[in-house]
Formats: sequence, structure tokens, C-alpha cells
Amino acid sequence: MGKQYLLAPGPTPVPPEVLQRMAEPIIHHRSPGYEKILGEVREGLKYLFQTKKEVLIFASSGTGAMEGAVTNTLSAGDKAIVIEGGKFGERWANICKAYGVQAQILPVEWGQPIDPGLIAQALKADPSVKAVFTQATETSTGVLYPIKEIAEIVSRYPGTIMVVDAVSHLGAVELPMDEWKLDIVVAGSQKAFMLPPGLSFAALSDKAWEFVAKSTLPKFYFDFKKELKNLMQNQSAYTPAVSLVMGLAESLPRIRKEGLENIFARHARLARATREAMLALGLKLYAPQAYSDAVTAVVAPPGVDGQKVVKILRDRHNLTIAGGQDQAKGKIFRIAHMGYVDKFDVIMAVAAVEMTLKELGYAVETGKGVRAAMEVLSK
Ligand SMILES: *Cc1c(COP(=O)(O)O)cnc(C)c1O
Repeated sequence: MGKQYLLAPGPTPVPPEVLQRMAEPIIHHRSPGYEKILGEVREGLKYLFQTKKEVLIFASSGTGAMEGAVTNTLSAGDKAIVIEGGKFGERWANICKAYGVQAQILPVEWGQPIDPGLIAQALKADPSVKAVFTQATETSTGVLYPIKEIAEIVSRYPGTIMVVDAVSHLGAVELPMDEWKLDIVVAGSQKAFMLPPGLSFAALSDKAWEFVAKSTLPKFYFDFKKELKNLMQNQSAYTPAVSLVMGLAESLPRIRKEGLENIFARHARLARATREAMLALGLKLYAPQAYSDAVTAVVAPPGVDGQKVVKILRDRHNLTIAGGQDQAKGKIFRIAHMGYVDKFDVIMAVAAVEMTLKELGYAVETGKGVRAAMEVLSK
């Protein structure tokens, strides 16, 4: 038997009801039936993003909307600040580079918290910076960034927008777009949306839309202005990913029914259970001071290769988590608890990690992590 368990930071598990909805016969997108569904989806997305603005939808992975956030707001030669504390920070820098945007990198040690004062300093030194690019959760390290504090600083600069990659964060951890004055929030379907990969999202503040009006970088498919115009008619500029939008029409009401507050509380509890379990096993957290509740990065114990943990979990136990990338490769493994994940998923992951560590020769008192997780989860 090969029953599969998916606890990676994307893609994530999808509820059967959503899968079923996506298996329905394809309807034509230029039709009143589709437009009605998209109208409901628009409202559901505003609830999820906690914004009054429209949320644009694209048929791409999360990176597509990230690229669009750059190309729709900036012009060649513009300056930007990129907070880079992991693989996804690097992605912002690479997109900027590809389009001739001068990115000033604010390096953050992997796994360490961010001092918002650094952004204040950088903007004070050069107020001509047009945008600050950051993650909300840096998935590669499991670090939570102080978005509210950074956005507060950026909001004092009328010529600078705050652009947040919340792909692995939105729908798992608090991020009220309007209240926190975020100018662009980017998301992707395969993380906490309870959907397969294939959709990306971007919501823009009034301030960001003013930047769009002046931007001259080349763009075609990811043309935010064109997409907004279509969305206002419950349409899209090009053929949408109809099945995924149908899935979205199923998952968004589920999100609203559970309620954002309850969703964030669930993720917080699952994350805490995971952390407590790992600590109980004598392991260390990779981001001990600023951890996200979407994904937990764990330092592999001395003498144990983090990549091996991931491989054995997958090959022997059919359970998929993620390893470390680049400088964290072999050093860490990452357990995600985002989206359609509940308490027994976490307990199962902890049990599988215990068995795997034991197989790799690390002295584990079997059940110790599971017990710690259960204690958190049964409260
Ligand atoms: C998953 C992820 C992305 C998007 O990656 P894609 O492979 O393009 O979907 C972007 N940022 C973060 C923080 C992510 O976790």
C-alpha cells in the first residue's frame, strides 16, 4: 500500500469537496454561469485578503504575480529595497535584476529575525527608493517577518510602496492588507488556499495603482490594469484556469465559514504543537525567535543529514515534507502545517519524524514528541 501524506510547504493537501468540484465538466468562461461564480470568488478573495480592493487572478504559479508586481509598478532604472533572508527574498532580487530595477539588498541572516529599523535607515538614506519587496513568511527558513512594523515605516514615504510576497502566509497567518497599509499582497493557490498549484493572486492599494499608471516596464500577460478592467466585468483578459477557479469557488466559502480568526488560531495551535514536539525530541528550531505558524523549520540533529530525513520520510513512509535549500541544505527539514491540515496530520508527521530519526541512528525516546504535540492539541 502506498497511502501518501503531503506536509510540504506547497503544494498542500486539497479537501475532497474541492477536488470533486474541480472534476465537474468544464463550463465556458464567457458565459453568465461563469461570471456569477467569478463574482462570488471576487468577494471571497476580498475577505481572505482583508481588503476592499479587487484581487487579481492569474493562471500561473506564485512567481507570476511576483513578477507582475515588479513589472506593473516600476520602470527601468528605478530603485528598490529587497529584504533577503532566504530563497524567496532572492527571487525578488532576481526579478528586479531581470527587468533592470536597481535592487538594494538588505541581507538578513537565514533563520534570524528582521530589525524594521534597518528599513527605516535605508529609506532615510535614500527616499527615492520606489518599492520595498519582502516576504511575510520566508518559506525557505520558516521565519516570520514583522510586516506590520515595516509597512508602518514605508507608509510614511509617499513615493515608496510596500510589496509583500504572502504566498506561503495568506490564509494561515494574520495579514490584514488594508489595516496594515500594505500596497501589494501576492499569493498563490497551492499553499494555504486548499487548492492545487496553478493560480496566483495580487491585490493593490490605491497608492500602488498610482504607480501602475506611471510604470513603463514591459508587460503583457501579467498586465494588472487590463486584468482589473476585465475582473470588474467578472471576466479575465485571457482564458482562465476554469477548473481551478471552480475549486476556488468551493474553498473560499469554506474559509469564510471557518472564519479567519479561527483559521489563524488553528494554524497557531498546529505550529505550536509541531515546535513543542521537536523541542521535546531534543531538536532545535531553525528560526527560534521569529517563527511563522505556516511552516516549521527544524535543525537536523548532529550527524544526521536533513536531506536524508526528507528522503526516508518520502521513500519509506510516503510522507512528504521539505528539506533545506542552498546554505540550509542538509542542515534542516521543514514541516508545513498550512491550509487543509488538522491536529492528526501534525501528530502523524511528528510520529513519522520520530521513526525516521530512529532509523538514522539518532537516539529518540519514541512517543516523546507525539506526547508533547498531543498535550498542545488536546487543550
Ligand atoms: C511557494 C512560494 C512562492 C511561489 O513559488 P511558485 O513556485 O512560483 O508558486 C513565492 N514565495 C513564497 C514565500 C513561497 O513560499
